Parts: sequence; C-alpha cells; structure tokens
Amino acid sequence: MRQLLLLIFYGWFLPAPAQLLIRNTTVVDVEAKKLLPAQDVWIQNGIVSGIGKKLTAPAGAQIIDGSGKYLMPGLVDAHVHFFQSGGLYTRPDAIDLRKANPYEKEMAWTHANMEALLRRYTRAGITSVIDVGATEIFLRQRDSFRNKSYAPTIYITGPLLTTYEPEVYNKLGADEPFSLMKTTTEARAYVQKQIPYKPDFIKIWYIVLGRNKDSSARTSLPMVQAVINEAHKNGLRVAVHATERITAQLSVEAGADLLVHGVEDEPVDASFAQLLKQKGTVLSPTLVVAGNYNKVFGQAYTPTAEDFRYAHPTPLNSLYHLQSIKDTALVKRYRNYVLRNTDAAKKEDTIRWMNLKKLVKAGVTIATGTDAGNIGTQHVSSYYDELAAMQGSGMDTWSLLEASTINGAKAVGREKEFGAVKKGMRADLLLLTKNPTEDFRAWQSIDWVINKGVAMKPDSVLQPSPVELADQQLVAYNAHNLEAFLAPYAEDIEIYDLSTNKLQVKGKEAMRKQYSFLNTVKTLYCNLLNRMVEGNVVVDHEEIWMDGGRKIYGLAIYEVKDGKIVKVWFPE
Ligand SMILES: [Zn+2]
Repeated sequence: MRQLLLLIFYGWFLPAPAQLLIRNTTVVDVEAKKLLPAQDVWIQNGIVSGIGKKLTAPAGAQIIDGSGKYLMPGLVDAHVHFFQSGGLYTRPDAIDLRKANPYEKEMAWTHANMEALLRRYTRAGITSVIDVGATEIFLRQRDSFRNKSYAPTIYITGPLLTTYEPEVYNKLGADEPFSLMKTTTEARAYVQKQIPYKPDFIKIWYIVLGRNKDSSARTSLPMVQAVINEAHKNGLRVAVHATERITAQLSVEAGADLLVHGVEDEPVDASFAQLLKQKGTVLSPTLVVAGNYNKVFGQAYTPTAEDFRYAHPTPLNSLYHLQSIKDTALVKRYRNYVLRNTDAAKKEDTIRWMNLKKLVKAGVTIATGTDAGNIGTQHVSSYYDELAAMQGSGMDTWSLLEASTINGAKAVGREKEFGAVKKGMRADLLLLTKNPTEDFRAWQSIDWVINKGVAMKPDSVLQPSPVELADQQLVAYNAHNLEAFLAPYAEDIEIYDLSTNKLQVKGKEAMRKQYSFLNTVKTLYCNLLNRMVEGNVVVDHEEIWMDGGRKIYGLAIYEVKDGKIVKVWFPE
C-alpha cells in the first residue's frame, strides 16, 4: 500500500525525482538495431545523462532494477487528431448525425476529455503524439500539459490549411479545424495567423476533387507551395495530407517534410521512392483508418482486446449507436454503400500495403501513425491495429521499432531530442518484461513507463472516472464480451434489485455465471437514453433490445470506489 501511494505521488503530485538510475538492463538501440545487455541508464532532470556498465548511483537517486528487462524508447504516434474522439459523431462531413448529437457537444467532449486521452496514451507507453490537424483552442490546451508527467509530449499544428472545406465546419471560430485557401496571399496569411499560437508545424489538406486529378492538383499547387515556403521561412516544418500519387509527388517536390498518409490510388514506382529518400521526406502510412469507417458504417466493427484495454469507452460505445439512430434510412444507405463497395475498398487496401512494402524496401523513412480520432479509429488502441497491418505488409519487428520511435521524432524534425535511448535525449522510456524485438505485442509488457524522466507504474497513470467505468461495461455488454464486461467491476461486487433493494448477487464469480448468456446471445443492445452523475454514482436510464425484438426499459445505478464498480442496482 505504501509503495502504491508513493507511486501515485510521483506520478501525480510531486516534481520528478531529479535523479533516476535504471540498473543492469538490456537497452534496445533502435538506430543500430541491436540489443545492448547489462547497461545502467542514468537520468537527470528528465534527460538521459549516462549509459554504461556499473555506473555509480548519485546520492538520493531513485533506483530501478532492470535485470531481465528491456529498456526501449517510448512510442510515438505520428498521426492523431484531438479534435476527433474516434466516436460516431466526430466527422459530420463523413456522416451527418448532428440531429442525434450536435457537433458542439462532440467538440466539448473532446476538449473536456483531452487529459483522459493523454493519460491513456502514457499508460500504453505512447509518450509522444503528433496531432496533424487541430484548432487554435487545442493549440492553447497543449501548453497546459507541457510539464505534466502523465501526459505525452504533444506536437501539434493549428487548423488544416485546405484546398477544400466541408461546409459543416464553417463558422466555428477558434474551434474551426480548417482554413480554406483561395489565393496564395490567403495561404501565406493563414500560416502567419497560426504563428502567435506557436504551432509545432503546419499542416496542409491537399484535396483534389473531380475526375481529372492531375489538373485539379496542379490548380491548387501554387497555394500548397506558398504555405510550404512561408512555413519554412518561419522555421516550421510542413505535413501534407496527399493520398493520390500526383498530390503526394507534387507536395514532396514542393518541399513537404511529412506525408501523413500512404498513396492509395495507384502503385508508386521507384522514382517516387527515390524522390522521398532524396528529399528526406517522412511518410506515415495509416493503413487501418479507412477500413475502420467501413466497419462502423457496415455495422461490423468489433472492439479489439486493445480497445477494451486502452481506448476511452465513451466514443467506443458510440459506434454501436447506429442501431438506435432514428434516421434508419440514412443508416441503411451507409450500410448498403459499404456492402456495394467492398471490392473497391479491398483494392485500395492492397495498394496501400504494396506501396508501403516498396517504400520500406527502398529505405524511405516510415513513421507509425494511426489517424486516431477518426470514426472507428480509437485513440491509443488503434496503434496496435496499425502495427499489425504494417507487419502484414512485410515490415519486420526491428523496422516497426524504428518506425514507432526514432522515425516518429524525425517526422517532426526532433530526432536529436527524443526517440532513442541515448545520452542527451529526453527520458521517455519503457522498461519491459518481454523482449520487444521478438514481437511488437511484447511492447505492452510495460513494467515502468518513464515519461519526461518520471518513472510510473502504468496503472497509476489512469484512474478511470465513474462515467468511464459505466461506459466500459456498457460497451462490453453491447459487444457481448463477458470478460471485458466484468473487468470494471470489483471482485466483491454486489448487485441489488432496484425495486426491492435486495442483494441478488455477490462476488464476481457469481456475476460471471449470471451473465454467461453474453457468450451466446445474438441480439442484445443497451441504448443509453439519459444519464445523471453525482460524485461516485452514475444513474443510467436504459433501453435494452433483446432477442425476439423485445425492448425493456429501466434504471441502472452504479456506485464506484477506488477505480472499480462496487455496487450496482439493476431493474429485475
Ligand atoms: Zn488525419
């Protein structure tokens, strides 16, 4: 207990111990692609200050025994968006459900839950995130997390400077994620407008419309060029969304530093790979994001083990809402569209994978990026789907390690500051119990996450709120996943009948038996109609759809203590 308290204090309240020594561990050198056994790593004021055999512990240093363990750099997600939650209502330009859930409400959620998402990133060992398209308000929010050990280091841009703006994002003021460029003068002015907020880089959304991609791309090129020139003049790198071969090529020729997606319309050739290599452009392939939209709209998204473990359950559960959206015609239209276009989607996926394989073989710098925040692509947990897809396209584990650490730093031009276990670099490190070079899944075996020089046990970084716990069991219920459903409940859970207040079930084992029907049920969906939260108590008004089309209504009351649901009242 005392040890736990100490951990919580280090993680949450006290300044970092100035000195930290990790003894006798195997260092993962992601640049040389080799393991260095029996190393001591000395960290001082958040920076790796020495690596070697049998270093002398400075007086007052915190000492961690790293024997039998592996020390790797913290992970980097090179493509996320904090203005998007990963839930169903987050991209009204992709599916307009503003009648069911106003967009202002969605934006309010993303701001209010940025800290919760950041804690989840750190807990999973993702110690740097690159937000490639945000708003002025998020730029200001970044600054409030700068010195927090629970938060990854955030590299972020202001609004996306775009050649096309979806109408739904108009007139959102300081929360508008897009700035539409119509002239080169406007393009330069938009770069200048972001500078007072100190963006870490500038982002362009290079969209081509219509059939003639080539001419459309060339029409917008002067504005793309103007942004790149203006940003570079001000010492800012430029990331570009360019998913066609033509836009990708033109942006790299114009000086783009980071391509935030792979090319998906045609196979790239050797000269394209050569161009990226010669210019030193970093590319983040984002292999899973498009498929996730299809899975959600086709109502075929099944949360992964990592979704249950790492994702914020509220947006995750919203993916099930298509079952109860009142505009059933709209829902059906989207579902049919996905079903009709499975072959086209498969073809695009094949091109993405093939192109990544070619670029890796040619030696282009690849950075792992998820596009987290888009509908169906959850913050934190989608990282593991992305890694699996990258591996599927032929990348070996060492290449994945490089792409997920030092190459993420290269994406923002900070490879001298972080991304490797190296003297002089920021101490963002993971001490693992399993060998991370054998399988990327071993990256989840985190004993200590060291963020900005502060060592924390992963679970001490996040204390889920009562709402998060209620939604964690709700999404697992909707996914019909018994073990994930039981996870947020305490071992000595008590279930009461709401009308009689009589204890019905006590203990998790009894609860497991009572809910074993989740393993076999076909239709079962709990639709949340209303919710009240008062301190550690959550009161949900629910509508449950069951096999045979029957619907039942009732209240569920959850009482939370020490990060678990300890008592619950269900209608009979
Ligand atoms: Zn994106």
